[in-house]
Amino acid sequence: MDASDAIYLIMPDRFANGDPDNDCMPGMFEKVDRNKPNGRHGSDLKGIQRHLSYIKDLGFTAIWINPVLENNMPQYSYHGYAITDFYAIDPRLGTLDDYIALIADAQSRGIKVIKDMVFNHCGTGHYWVKDPPAPDWIHHWNEFTRTNYRATTFVDPHRSDYDYKKMVQGWFDTSMPDLNQDNPMLAKYLIQNSIWWVELTGLDGIRMDTQPYPYKEFMADWGKAVLNEYHNFYMVGEAWLTKASLVAYYQKNALNHDGYNSNLPGVFDFPVNAAMLAAFNEKDGWDRGTARLYEALAEDFLYPNPYNLVTFLDNHDKSRYFTIVGEDINKLKMALSFLFTTRGIPSVYYGTELLMTGWEQPEHGEIRKDFPGGWPGDKTNAFDASGRTSKQNEAFNFIRKLLEIRKKHHVLHFGSLTHFIPNDGIYVYFRHNEDDCVMVIMNNNEIEKELETKRFAEILGKYSITTNLMADKPFKMDAQIKVPAKSATILGLTN
Ligand code: CA
Repeated sequence: MDASDAIYLIMPDRFANGDPDNDCMPGMFEKVDRNKPNGRHGSDLKGIQRHLSYIKDLGFTAIWINPVLENNMPQYSYHGYAITDFYAIDPRLGTLDDYIALIADAQSRGIKVIKDMVFNHCGTGHYWVKDPPAPDWIHHWNEFTRTNYRATTFVDPHRSDYDYKKMVQGWFDTSMPDLNQDNPMLAKYLIQNSIWWVELTGLDGIRMDTQPYPYKEFMADWGKAVLNEYHNFYMVGEAWLTKASLVAYYQKNALNHDGYNSNLPGVFDFPVNAAMLAAFNEKDGWDRGTARLYEALAEDFLYPNPYNLVTFLDNHDKSRYFTIVGEDINKLKMALSFLFTTRGIPSVYYGTELLMTGWEQPEHGEIRKDFPGGWPGDKTNAFDASGRTSKQNEAFNFIRKLLEIRKKHHVLHFGSLTHFIPNDGIYVYFRHNEDDCVMVIMNNNEIEKELETKRFAEILGKYSITTNLMADKPFKMDAQIKVPAKSATILGLTN
């Protein structure tokens, strides 16, 4: 996994039901109920495998599947983050053989597979809660104590012991007891578990949930142990912090004040995500609109490898981006254009191509709706162009075209990024190397604008032929060019 990849994120209970016979399984407490937004809906690994061609057709080279391990919980078991057996696939998603078959099939089509893992907590249904292997296996409090979710306490020189203890030892939720990775047996168990899954299934990457929440020394040991076995293995941590200074702390080889090294090749780019959430929804100003993107990327000096960050518009925990931008497809297109052309490994949440909507509050079920056509008897089948609305096809084709450009222009993977200070509501940047150059012009104004191009001479001066890559048409690079309202123009430059 690296910046040549593009990730499609799937919630395995909400994508496609490839085997209705496993919807309700003996011994599993929660039964299927598609009418409940937060219930189990019956989608599974076979369903994902059946639709790999759809993902391939869109142009993605990797899938990240939310946790697939057993969650034998009485309710809210569908999301997978309350694991009750770290060595078992949840039988309602399929068997271990189904998982291995899915990975092998995906890889044969050029699609990598990323496993979602959780080391911070387990589900209360795990036997560890009733019968722990050691008294200190789980952090216990006199009364239920929730973590404060304030990961800032890990790096804050002014933190109180009270806040720090609550952060690292508090429970993630009433149903998610906090594991004590300070117990060396548990630490070994979790590290061996990762190696077992990678070795057995041939996984391409691991996405680690709540990266900062477990003891950081243990997380560093885990990263090191996995990299010792698989030298180029990709691991990406969810360090949900909005400042680059805090997120960068968790990337491998960061120059940290305390010498900490996570051994983690990738982290999610929450700071750039925060910039994207606001940028296209507001008029440009000194520190508003596309200036947010410019300022966020300027902090890349903090990261040992900004190309290894995973960038995203939304995910399974966040309001749908299309909803955030008021269901304005032009704003979504600008954001997607930025996502696929700036540095990093882009990740797209399933259903973005179908213009799925939803706020993450009050219920996460709203942002995890069923993929239409994934279930026998569904009224529409959005896996096929004929089952999508014209607006959905517009979004689908837009993403497919962007991924086609990204595949053809390797400069968008590892090429240098040079950007110019946004001016008059227009943000211009280039991705360039010795062989290729792509220019992106983002007009964040509600009106068409004239753009003077002489400011970009340091790069434009090297090239004579310009192509509009989205339209596959020649483009005339004059001293003044017209840029359409609220849009991104993506140009290829050659000699
Ligand atoms: Ca099923």
